[in-house]
Amino acid sequence: MTNTRIGTPLADGFGGRWTAILFDTFLGGRADDLGRLDRLTGDGDFGNNIASALGRAKQAADAETPQDYRGWLTAVSHGFLGTGGTSGPLFGMFFRDLARCSGVGEPTLAELSAGLSAGVATVQRYGRAEVGHKTMIDALVPAALALESLLPSGADPAQALAQAAESAVEGARSTADLVARRGRASYVGEVARGVLDPGAAAAAIVVQAAAAAQSGADRSLDTRWVSA
Ligand code: ADP
Ligand code: MG
Repeated sequence: MTNTRIGTPLADGFGGRWTAILFDTFLGGRADDLGRLDRLTGDGDFGNNIASALGRAKQAADAETPQDYRGWLTAVSHGFLGTGGTSGPLFGMFFRDLARCSGVGEPTLAELSAGLSAGVATVQRYGRAEVGHKTMIDALVPAALALESLLPSGADPAQALAQAAESAVEGARSTADLVARRGRASYVGEVARGVLDPGAAAAAIVVQAAAAAQSGADRSLDTRWVSA
């Protein structure tokens, strides 16, 4: 690492914990809840897509334990890149940018923030969705902006990630009020109003998991807002 690195790395084992929380959450029932949302406004495959992406990532990690943050996040990225649906490749590229944010060991908060912003930009470059189009972007943009805005003040990483998670959840919840402008949900018009966007909900849970991985809190996330 060069001495231009700003800040100290996130907590030891952050990447492995983040990934483990994603496995626990999505392979432990949350994927089904999100699949139900996709059945209301899309084609119903979202739950399967996310569960099979993470199932594949877990299989790879079980076969050969990743060495560091980059290895864990790369396993997640590969899991999604091998999965169908619109969300598979988009999340695959998103996690690839996150994996690349750190050279060795755990990323600093600034590196993670840069990785998150890069991932969001990639998803937007391919998906052409803006905030308000009722997609994963509605959760990811507020999270990336929250983290970016907290960096200059030298915020505590756990608090900064908790705030990013709160912004992501708020953004995901706001999708319930919208009709979709991108993705399959855009074919059903007003029918989608009142239903959370599953991709936005999943993206918010990903940010919640990052916050939990840093704070060392219990692995079970509070995702009651998904069904609220
Ligand atoms: P499909 O609609 O092809 O079945 P999935 O069910 O795997 O895809 O994923 C649906 C999710 O993908 C949506 O909830 C939404 O968040 C996300 N999505 C769809 N289109 C876009 C897009 N153009 N940009 C960003 N995210 C999108
Ligand atoms: Mg679908």
